[in-house]
Amino acid sequence: MKRGCDVEVYEQARQLKEVGAGVQLSANGTRVLYALGVGEELKALSCEAEGKEIRLWNTGEAWKLFDLGRVYDFPYFTVYRPDLLEVLARAVRRIKPEAIHLGERCTGFVQTDGAVRLELENGSMSGDVLVGADGVHSLIRQTLFGPDKPQFSGIIAWRGIIPMERLPARMARMVGVNWVGPGGHVVHYPLRAGTLMNFVGALERTDWQVESWSARGTTEELAADYRGWHEDVQTLIRNIPVPHKWALMVRPPMPRWTVGRVTLLGDACHSMVPFLAQGAVMAIEDALVLARALTELDGDVGSRLARYEEARRERTRRAVEGSADNIARFHSRALADPGTAREYVEREWAGHNVASRYEWLFRYDALTETL
Ligand SMILES: Cc1cc2nc3c(=O)[nH]c(=O)nc-3n(C[C@H](O)[C@H](O)[C@H](O)COP(=O)(O)OP(=O)(O)OC[C@H]3O[C@@H](n4cnc5c(N)ncnc54)[C@H](O)[C@@H]3O)c2cc1C
Repeated sequence: MKRGCDVEVYEQARQLKEVGAGVQLSANGTRVLYALGVGEELKALSCEAEGKEIRLWNTGEAWKLFDLGRVYDFPYFTVYRPDLLEVLARAVRRIKPEAIHLGERCTGFVQTDGAVRLELENGSMSGDVLVGADGVHSLIRQTLFGPDKPQFSGIIAWRGIIPMERLPARMARMVGVNWVGPGGHVVHYPLRAGTLMNFVGALERTDWQVESWSARGTTEELAADYRGWHEDVQTLIRNIPVPHKWALMVRPPMPRWTVGRVTLLGDACHSMVPFLAQGAVMAIEDALVLARALTELDGDVGSRLARYEEARRERTRRAVEGSADNIARFHSRALADPGTAREYVEREWAGHNVASRYEWLFRYDALTETL
């Protein structure tokens, strides 16, 4: 919209609200948010962790991580999702107050030479381009390429939000922590100026396979999953008011996701397990590169969309694969025994190894990427 495109957003939810969970936004994402003019607004609601740590699941031994958050030109924010959504929606409405249509479920579309018509439950509308930003179960993707065939990763993710005042002072720190253990890991980091702690636990388990943001679990079930883990992990679990669970599915990288005037972005075309913390950041990068392709390139709409897809294909494929590679790394059996675990952690999280896994992600500039 800032580049002169007239955009309408159709969202099935009746209210604009995100799940109460956190999201990490690395420099490659905050660079885009600053370019869109919402960086400072978001910063006021976010946390910038002072550091990151790896901790061992049973002994609690901690290693300070080479700090990725501070070495780039843009900050590493940890954000409460409803705050991010609110800041983005406000920015859209400042430009076009009626752009976001709620309670509008898309049911299909029809493409002709000159336009694309979006079918909604309560009507239809036409435009030059249709962008399916409709998430992991994308109807637009399935209409373009047929039914979805996700594979269960064998991992379920637990998440919860803990009021910081419930935690003992030694745990209520402005530090992002990644606990690693055989068959599971836990990540926690502060949100909302340090008033909340976000909890994400990933565990290898095959008995539950629902991919949903809203499925609830119980404290007892979560605690049973992490039996034998360090007392600090138990303290986190005990203080989560409502734990939620999500079965992690994997979909292989798509070779293409544009047909004529219709394209996809975000999880609709490259969902990934959340172990590089890049799914939302990739969607943010996609959006900027797509806007640039539509407004900076010549040629018909189809060729501009194809250039957007080309510019994003290899990078998002690496992110999908890099995220999956972290399953084996975070859950290695070498972590079972404190003797082998120390050597393993010191090797896998050595500065140069961490840099080779993250530098290419964080240094990317969606504003100057060649189209
Ligand atoms: C446990 C966990 C932790 C994560 N942590 C991070 C992290 O730290 N950093 C990070 O970058 N990423 C993280 N991610 C990934 C991130 O949440 C996703 O990649 C991101 O939400 C994708 O955004 P999206 O806009 O593509 O899709 P979504 O957020 O799923 O949004 C899709 C929207 O489309 C709407 N919709 C769907 N179908 C229709 C329809 N037919 N008609 C109208 N509207 C429709 C939905 O209601 C929804 O609002 C995490 C994911 C999980 C599961």
